[in-house]
Amino acid sequence: MQHRSRPTPKALGAGAALSLALALTLSAAPALAAPPGPGAERDPVPALVAGEGTAAPQLVTGLAEAAPGGAGEAARAHLAAHPDRYRIDPAQLTELAVERTAADRRTVRFQQYHGGIPVLGGQYLVRLVGDGAGQRVESAGGKYFTGLTAPTTAAVPAATLRRLALDSLTDQRARTAATAEDRGPVVLPGGAGRLAQHFTVRSTDPATGGPLVREVYVDATRGVVALAHDARSPYRAADAGTGAARGAAAAAAPTGPSGEPATGSAPDLLGRTVPVSIARQSDGSYRLVDLTRPATISTYDGTGRDYREFGRLPADALPVASPGPDFPAATGTSGATDAHVNAGTVYDFYRDRLGRDGLDGKGSPITSVVNVSNGGRPFPNASWDGQKMVYGNGDATHRQFAAALDVAGHEMTHGVIQHTADLEYSGQSGAMNEALADYFGNAIEVTARGIAMTDPGAALLGESLCLTGTPEACAGRRLDDRRTTVDDYLGAGLELDSGGVHLNSTIFGGALWDLRRTLDPLTADRLVYRALAEFLTPLDDFVDGRNAVLAAGRSLGLGRAELRTVAAAFDAHGIRAGWQSRVRTDSRPLLRGAMAPTGPAAGGGHWVMGSTSGPVGGAVPLYTGSTTAPSTPTRLSPEDERIHGWAATDGTSAAWLAIGLDDTGTWGTEVLTRSLSGGPVRSLFKSSAQSPVSVQVSGTDIAFVLTDGDTGRSRAMLSHDGAPPVELPLPEGHDLVPYTSSSLSLRNGLLGWLETWTTGESTVQAPTVYSIAAGRTTAQYPVSTANGAEAPFLDSPTLAGDRLLWTQTAPGHPGGGAIRSGALNGSGVGELLPAGSPLAPADLAITATDRAVTFQQRGDKPADGWSNAALPKLYQLPVTGGTPVRVSCNRGTQFHPAADQGNRVVWLDATTGGSDLVTRDRPAAAC
Ligand SMILES: [Zn+2]
Repeated sequence: MQHRSRPTPKALGAGAALSLALALTLSAAPALAAPPGPGAERDPVPALVAGEGTAAPQLVTGLAEAAPGGAGEAARAHLAAHPDRYRIDPAQLTELAVERTAADRRTVRFQQYHGGIPVLGGQYLVRLVGDGAGQRVESAGGKYFTGLTAPTTAAVPAATLRRLALDSLTDQRARTAATAEDRGPVVLPGGAGRLAQHFTVRSTDPATGGPLVREVYVDATRGVVALAHDARSPYRAADAGTGAARGAAAAAAPTGPSGEPATGSAPDLLGRTVPVSIARQSDGSYRLVDLTRPATISTYDGTGRDYREFGRLPADALPVASPGPDFPAATGTSGATDAHVNAGTVYDFYRDRLGRDGLDGKGSPITSVVNVSNGGRPFPNASWDGQKMVYGNGDATHRQFAAALDVAGHEMTHGVIQHTADLEYSGQSGAMNEALADYFGNAIEVTARGIAMTDPGAALLGESLCLTGTPEACAGRRLDDRRTTVDDYLGAGLELDSGGVHLNSTIFGGALWDLRRTLDPLTADRLVYRALAEFLTPLDDFVDGRNAVLAAGRSLGLGRAELRTVAAAFDAHGIRAGWQSRVRTDSRPLLRGAMAPTGPAAGGGHWVMGSTSGPVGGAVPLYTGSTTAPSTPTRLSPEDERIHGWAATDGTSAAWLAIGLDDTGTWGTEVLTRSLSGGPVRSLFKSSAQSPVSVQVSGTDIAFVLTDGDTGRSRAMLSHDGAPPVELPLPEGHDLVPYTSSSLSLRNGLLGWLETWTTGESTVQAPTVYSIAAGRTTAQYPVSTANGAEAPFLDSPTLAGDRLLWTQTAPGHPGGGAIRSGALNGSGVGELLPAGSPLAPADLAITATDRAVTFQQRGDKPADGWSNAALPKLYQLPVTGGTPVRVSCNRGTQFHPAADQGNRVVWLDATTGGSDLVTRDRPAAAC
């Protein structure tokens, strides 16, 4: 059989879609602000913010309760003394850190555990003021997930979990080169919680040559990917970043040789000679090692080598050297001088202005590597890799990235964040991570350089790197771009910039920068730093961030008028509870915050989808509802702990897959069916070794594809009139084409599939129509490829009206697939959408009724970067051919379409940053 570079079948490769929906919703839940109390004017600082999906409050302010003793024990005793207020079991908390941001202030940061396993993002903070007997609790809050009952031992073998993590890379070339580092078990929060094994998966992006580094969480009870997102913290969204994952490196940061402190000089990137703090070595030479501060600052030259060589510094790497105290010209042209000086400036800002001793607050070494490339090619980016700063060598339009103080401040602030709030690097929490890095990057630059806040360049990031164009046009980002949630939030899936961590960052960062303009800068810096160090926790969203800054303001002693100014800055950027409901959409919601292992199914005026509520959730039940009228979703799947999804419906009944442990404790996949109006759930097939895919239902027929694990051969299975499924025979030497996005179609007694076989000279792929009543093939449209030549990709056979539709991509048109059709009477092939169309279907997947075919347009990254307009949208055209038109003008990503009846389509929509199941009866056409 020829090798095909295909996505894995959906039953195995479902992780991407699941993780998208889950992680989006992680950060999409609006916090419930307490209603305003009596009185004419509402206090801008909420006294109590309820938790979302937990009984523990997100924020409690205005306390003054005595808490004597050591900080950790005092904080723990406080939580234990108020079980009705906090609903927290202190035995599940482990002290992570005690942050001291002022002489009389201590913040105890606790990590939540469940059965000895850390809970992702489960952090709770208690803030203490005063000393000794006068010590009291000022406020408390964070995310503590009540109601976790998930098992704490894995049911799926470790080797299987690792394979599933690797399989989450759907591109076969990336998959082949991938490695998976086991990071240990973790409980994903939401509902009963979910035991997962955390892997850091590393590979190379075949399209760009850039790195792929993903944090992947595999459900250890059910054997599916539960959550996956990009692991990098680059300075800007780009195709390439540095290779190491945040926090992945376990070894201590390298310190280099120490030597004796000395002062020398070095040229900077612009050729100016500047003083540098250096270290004299025992042999009389000097190195770029600054010993004048508690934290040793060392700077290394990557000499243009590939950034991958510096994921961990090579054992023999040494800081930049010079025979004498006056460093040579290369120290300047590499960017090393600038990085060295900038690191000291950033350290001083945090120490002198905010009282922080270095990135980790403990004066640990600070390390920079400058002048690295992307495999010898220009590398216009920089990153914090969990341990050190890595600066790219620039490109035709950018200088060495080490040269910008705001970029250094940005990357080093990622290090501060990692040691404080550790904001999860996806969705809104990831955008806040970027926003805080931007804020301090710019604050450090304008403070050190004496730039006025009114200066046009003050709000720009990285503008000093620009070799061409205006600073405004070339800067990486700008904090005065006036973007708001309601008007500008980029409704992107996790596949894109980890859910918009850079693309949505200036919404939050802009509000912070406004504060720096309207309050005095020092107050603003202290306020934002206090919010970061004392209030924020890893899974916080924008509204949590707003409340954190306001509560930090109250604790800093800001007056009512100043706090109103803070609230107004967030209002101006649309950061207030419930903003999602004010984003304009033209679709009808069917299920808000839908979290699904795959997309919905639709038919006959009904939808069916596996979905769960709560942040990440445990079991995934299957639900159904009407597509034509408002309805409360009803549960179809049995009460168990499995994941239900990969469904089909004809409007009368549903058929679907259930994955996980059954009631005998055996792991496997089961094909289930049930009438949409209720009645018993029937099992059609069950296996621990074979994974059924592409379940279809039409009347009393249920079909699916089964692949033999040993031979890799795929067969169609059919259950007719309730009988056990039987294999449909194929001619000798024929197989179903493996690894298509959707392998099977079933409608009105006909099956559509893709068959393949070889002749002497060629390989044949054939869209095929099979009649159940006749028991034989009734129409076939073979496509032959000479042996040795590159074959076209055929996919998504779909019965619609009097035709069989499919997608077909010729070699040389990757992704630019045509939609073709053959008449059911075998009379010939037509083309609905020509090859190479800019509206080619993504993943070569289509969905159709007898009237219309719908697909998600392939989303290519525009040259000027992602925007809502560029995110993938749904298009529809008549099955008889015509011009594709927009299904909906919703601005965010539209994905997983399912055709229902006529022109009606059901799909998942990320416009508001969540993942909502929505529908329209007919296309919007022009937008
Ligand atoms: Zn960044």
